[in-house]
Amino acid sequence: MEANIQKAVDIILNSKYTIAFTGAGISVESGIPPFRGKDGLWSKYDPNVLDLGNFQLNPIESWKVIKEIFYDFFGAAKPNAAHFVLAKMESMGLVKALITQNIDNLHYEAGSKEVYEFHGNSRMLVCPYCSKKIVAAEIDLTKMPLCNECHAVLKPDFIFFGEGIPEMAYRKSFEAAGKADVVIIIGSTGEVYPAANIPPLAKHKGAKVIEINPEKSLFTETITDIFIQGKASDVMQKLLNGINQKI
Ligand code: NAD
Repeated sequence: MEANIQKAVDIILNSKYTIAFTGAGISVESGIPPFRGKDGLWSKYDPNVLDLGNFQLNPIESWKVIKEIFYDFFGAAKPNAAHFVLAKMESMGLVKALITQNIDNLHYEAGSKEVYEFHGNSRMLVCPYCSKKIVAAEIDLTKMPLCNECHAVLKPDFIFFGEGIPEMAYRKSFEAAGKADVVIIIGSTGEVYPAANIPPLAKHKGAKVIEINPEKSLFTETITDIFIQGKASDVMQKLLNGINQKI
């Protein structure tokens, strides 16, 4: 077993409260590109589509693009091995909570239960006026969706640029980070705030930081104790194999 995988396995098996912190990178192997970078979504689409003011001014045009990216495209994605290993580790009692910046619902689809969705979830739509929530898959998105109570334009239940973090997810994420003795960061650049404050808070309170990413991130040189360079699905399967060999 590679030395750093071995070290990570020992740390996880000796931990009382391991949390995972995931970013867009964990879903890349499910076919969802990150926002930024050469093949990122913003190389094809205008990020303005997620600007709240733009959405309110141009709802019909915005919904055409939102449907294409977040419902036709994200909607077809399935969890990959990394999502499944995290769910398995939770069921084994080795991961206590999972904080995700992703909005693609793939952690729940893989079977994870204690998931805090820091940026919301695309699976639901919400009425900005009466707060009613509707399952996106149950309505026709070929035309702009309207609330059947107050007729306002429905918005995906994830946060647009400039919107606040959902209160419950925010509180639970920082509480979990405060309790954690190990954080596994998977596929995050650490550039998006306030989410990027979560792993450093845990580190500050004494947690060990294991990071999985094919590239270095803003966390790597600052808070990471063990950097495992590689793709999420490959590394997570090796971690699980290592754990299974030791228990
Ligand atoms: P990011 O887009 O800033 O960075 C992605 C990271 O993933 C990079 O560090 C990259 O090196 C790494 N990566 C690429 N392929 C990988 C792989 N196979 N395995 C592991 N890591 C890999 O991601 P971020 O830090 O999460 O921030 C972007 C923001 O965009 C977040 O707020 C998130 O909500 C949102 N977003 C979500 C999704 C999604 O729900 N799947 C997709 C795109 C963007």
